[in-house]
Amino acid sequence: MAENTAISWATHTFNPWMGCTKVSPACDGCYAEALMDKRYGKVRWGPHGERVRTAPANWKQPLKWNRQAETDGTRPFVFCASLADVFDNQVPPEWRRDLFDLIRATPNLVWLLLTKRPQNIVKMVKIVGFMPSNIAFGTSIEDRQRVETNLPHMVVAAGLRPLFLFASCEPLLGDLGDLSPWMTGDPYPQRLSEGEHYEASGLKIGADGWPKLPAIGWWISGGETDQGGHKARPTHPDWLRSIRDQSLAHGLAYHHKQNGEWAPQLGAVDLPDNPEISRYQWAEWDGEEWQYWDRPMWCDDLDPDHSMIRAGKKLSGRLLDGVTHDAFPEVNHG
Ligand code: SF4
Repeated sequence: MAENTAISWATHTFNPWMGCTKVSPACDGCYAEALMDKRYGKVRWGPHGERVRTAPANWKQPLKWNRQAETDGTRPFVFCASLADVFDNQVPPEWRRDLFDLIRATPNLVWLLLTKRPQNIVKMVKIVGFMPSNIAFGTSIEDRQRVETNLPHMVVAAGLRPLFLFASCEPLLGDLGDLSPWMTGDPYPQRLSEGEHYEASGLKIGADGWPKLPAIGWWISGGETDQGGHKARPTHPDWLRSIRDQSLAHGLAYHHKQNGEWAPQLGAVDLPDNPEISRYQWAEWDGEEWQYWDRPMWCDDLDPDHSMIRAGKKLSGRLLDGVTHDAFPEVNHG
């Protein structure tokens, strides 16, 4: 789906401003800080740092995308604020108002507002004073603690009647456990990718004849990648499988973005036929010959029976058990 972004679950990325403060373990390897603070020195991160608005020319981009979408009859997905958090307390409320004006002026775009501060959504939208109909709210979840703290706020945010709700489980740092309380209700119509099978819809109709709200209708997962000096932590494939299986069993859209820096087990990586191959060595292990990366870093702490290797994000790719999971929520084109 990506056109102007490297992110597989969006067509465009738009940053209204830059700068943020770390609030969660998922922020440890913040891509935006590594790029905009440490690498380019454009904005200082943290509670005493700055928030810097992007140029007026950048703010005109979504208007262009919107016109194109109208011509094409499409609804492109826009990931809003990859270099910031829309619901950051330190952002002046007038900036958010300007952003919401822009969102309202671009009805053909589906605006994905992904936040690590879901507790702020309702109160900050109230301060803005209106809710555009083309917003989807999402929150990041990297472990069970974030499931329990962040998802209840999404249930409350559903009262603002967003297009849909979504969860980004990236970087996935632990087993999320039972997600069914947030997967029942209205799953919204979904599109399957090749190789996916939904077993049951889980759709519940309320007494008024309408599907029950809310379900987190779209689940995105991914492993971590290295960012500057931060070395990626491994994601156990079983943690990913659990999200996949629960999403599909509830008839919800599941999108797996990437495996991250680590790949499961020796020999599990599909080795490309290129000069990089020289970086592999052969070794005898468990009575068999295996190829291994020349800088093996084992992760036996994660699971002694399921070693992981730092293969690099390119080699580890985005297949999960041999399948690409590329599902998106269906939105009305009318
Ligand atoms: S919320 Fe996002 S942008 Fe802000 S510090 Fe965390 S990872 Fe970085």
